[in-house]
Amino acid sequence: MRKLYIFDTTLRDGEQSLGITLNVKEKLVIGRQLVKLGVDIIEAGFPASSPGDFNSVKTIAKEIKGATICGLTRAVEKDIDTCAEALRDAEAPRIHTGIAVSPVHMAKKLKMSPSQVVEAAVAAVKRAKKYVSDVEFYAEDASRSERDFLVEIVSKVIAAGATVVNIPDTVGYSTPWQYEELISYLKNHVSNIDHAVISIHCHNDLGLATANSLAGIRAGASQVEGTINGIGERAGNTSLEEVIMAVYSQKNLYGVDVMINTREIAATSRLVSRITGVAVPSHKAIVGANAFMHASGIHQDGVLKERNTYEIIDPEVVGIPRSRIVLSARSGRHALKHRLEELGYTGVQENLDDIYAKFLELGDLKSEIFDDDLHALMGNATKEVNGISIKQLSVTSSGAAHAAATVTLEIDGQVSSDAACGAGPVDAVFKAVDRIVGKTVKLEDYSLKSVSRGSEAMGDATVKIRYKNSLVVGRGISTDIFEASALAYVNALAKAAHIE
Ligand SMILES: [Zn+2]
Repeated sequence: MRKLYIFDTTLRDGEQSLGITLNVKEKLVIGRQLVKLGVDIIEAGFPASSPGDFNSVKTIAKEIKGATICGLTRAVEKDIDTCAEALRDAEAPRIHTGIAVSPVHMAKKLKMSPSQVVEAAVAAVKRAKKYVSDVEFYAEDASRSERDFLVEIVSKVIAAGATVVNIPDTVGYSTPWQYEELISYLKNHVSNIDHAVISIHCHNDLGLATANSLAGIRAGASQVEGTINGIGERAGNTSLEEVIMAVYSQKNLYGVDVMINTREIAATSRLVSRITGVAVPSHKAIVGANAFMHASGIHQDGVLKERNTYEIIDPEVVGIPRSRIVLSARSGRHALKHRLEELGYTGVQENLDDIYAKFLELGDLKSEIFDDDLHALMGNATKEVNGISIKQLSVTSSGAAHAAATVTLEIDGQVSSDAACGAGPVDAVFKAVDRIVGKTVKLEDYSLKSVSRGSEAMGDATVKIRYKNSLVVGRGISTDIFEASALAYVNALAKAAHIE
């Protein structure tokens, strides 16, 4: 069986679509988790697009080992030179360059003739090849290109040194059988195709990204590109976890083997959701909260008698423990440690005193502590960004229009308080924080959901603020929803403080 290479573009195609700016620390946290998951290639960004992206790619290239680090470029000399510079410290660098190949893109967007496009493509691959041996070429909008032209450009870039050729369905236009046929066509008509790996990159505009990717794999592609949770441009990219588990479930059908630590899938999904602020729908395949729930009586009865009557994947394989243990303030340190390890957390022992103290605090407020509460607790315990903490918070409200809040913050060791009125208690809290911090930001989005079950469930607040043209996400979790909201807001402000 041939190996299926997993190419993750959460930090490039995923991030660019969100409009949000993840900082370098956040990207490193995601990158390290992707290595734990076992992806082969991490596309870290588009270095020529901004100094911030350049620095992120450079830092990831330097810090993250254990995966190929890839940067995207257009077929433009300056882009390629900048990308090579950003990747200089990578253990295994890859430059991903390319150009659009469909008639509409060439004529309207690039205003280039097909022969000029071929020339630019070959020149780009040759230039990238001067810096790195691993060069991937993307034929943008390949699924809407003319066959003969696609064959010509693919064979010429392979001759120029491309080691991977990416045949994307950029606009999510293909059907699985069309895409399978397209990849087969290239396999049969590009004479030097055996010198390169065929890669597939699908978008989900018609809900077909996973199906198209699997069709491409069946036709002979050995690399699949996608993102965690399927985040990405418009309707999203291919969800890597879906392709991985589809192949894992029926390897013989696809003729490929996938070397992934599937038990890290749930943790990776949660982490990406937490950092990007993009929630995972509860019915989402593989990683949705309900993906392994059986609600109907007939199904429950069947699963109890024999799991595979209604369950095609053992949840433990994707990192979701089968047993549903509920902890409480009476649970000991050992029980907590055991459960956290079952949930996939490592390094619990070293920080157990800290974690247990937070757990007991939570146990005072909530009689039952569910897995989701533990994830929230661990998310808070490892909160990356700060320098700002909430010392005290009080809110009074008599009807939505008359709310007032008093907030005390500690910023870099200095304590200050202020009060404000607002159109509702959350607005009042944010205004009081604004007065202390003295920064002008625009609140773009605010949402609050409960972490687990029951009226004493913790509130999980997400705030998006715009500061100097960057959109920044903050999260906050607390049993007090106003405190959760304030924490999320302060978290976003703390991140904005690092934007130049
Ligand atoms: Zn894309």
